[in-house]
Amino acid sequence: MKHVLLIDDSEDDRELVMDLLQGVNGGITVSAVGTGAEGLAQIATQAPDCVVIDFRLETESGFDVLDRVKSVMPYCPVIILTGQGSESAAAQSFKSGASDYLSKSHLTGGALRRAIENAMRRAELESAIAAQDDERKKFLSHLAHDLRAPLRNINNLCELLAEDVRSGESEDLARHIDLMLARTQRANDLIDALESYALVSQESSNEIVCLTDVVHAAKDNLDSVVLQTHARIETAPLPDIRGSKAQLILLFQNLIQNGLKYNDQEEPVIIIRPEVSRPGRILVRVEDNGLGIPKEHWKTVFEPFKRLWSKDRYEGSGLGLSSCQRIVERHGGQIWCTSAMGVGSQFFVDLPEAP
Ligand code: ADP
Repeated sequence: MKHVLLIDDSEDDRELVMDLLQGVNGGITVSAVGTGAEGLAQIATQAPDCVVIDFRLETESGFDVLDRVKSVMPYCPVIILTGQGSESAAAQSFKSGASDYLSKSHLTGGALRRAIENAMRRAELESAIAAQDDERKKFLSHLAHDLRAPLRNINNLCELLAEDVRSGESEDLARHIDLMLARTQRANDLIDALESYALVSQESSNEIVCLTDVVHAAKDNLDSVVLQTHARIETAPLPDIRGSKAQLILLFQNLIQNGLKYNDQEEPVIIIRPEVSRPGRILVRVEDNGLGIPKEHWKTVFEPFKRLWSKDRYEGSGLGLSSCQRIVERHGGQIWCTSAMGVGSQFFVDLPEAP
């Protein structure tokens, strides 16, 4: 149910608007007040989905009230109502951020309802775009920060190397070069992770994919890590789904790799198997016997650049799980995790079954 707040100082007009909306008001509730102050007090207790303001209130201008409403709820749609209507008032309404401008003289319930619904739809879209913009800014500032760190390090190491060469002392030379190579590798890894992350939105093949093959390919790509860590990876047959094989391999590769990386067992074990799922869906469980993830981070680990350990302890870009989430969402699915500290973590991937 959507809630509309009407601010109009004329009792007759308030009744008129309420009556008009009552005739067509499925899904909309209306509350009406006579002044801007009363309207703002209501907004503070119950945020409306749309505000309708009379252009000429007795002691204040509708535009001032519009400004105040926008200052507390920037994305709340506001419709200005006027007695007669004039072009300049309409222009000023839009300039002040109103979503629509209607004259009371020819007002019908249908027109008012349409204006309210359109304004709410537009506002939802604007707020979704603003949220995406915020996400993008946050992502870029994290990226700049994480790329700057190894570059700053390389810069410092270059100065140390120059000093080593100038002084003719070769004692620290090899160590400084090794450190520099490691930092270069770190910057490179971040760029690789970034490339995989970006590719998710570009590659869009939609073929029938056998998930059993996908998991085997992901496992094969990690052969050397599996050997190094003496890990055991158990898999069970999985059904087919429709999507991008390359992306699905990356998804399981990231999950297996994390299960091996955040794991200090002598024999890391990863088990990948299907779970009972809803009709038409596939649920895959990727389980490890690693360090575990604290409950307060079960959701945040999927955010870009979220890392729970310092880079000196575990290398990583913090883009792996957010890439997994993007891949799963592009396939119409969901991913989540549960975990017990010191026992292990379970990642669940829910996907639509191939039709
Ligand atoms: P990273 O590149 O750092 O591995 P991810 O996005 O893949 O980034 O994971 C985010 C963080 O979640 C990791 O830094 C790690 O702290 C935690 N994490 C991910 N997978 C696991 C796991 N299987 N077990 C324990 N911790 C994990």
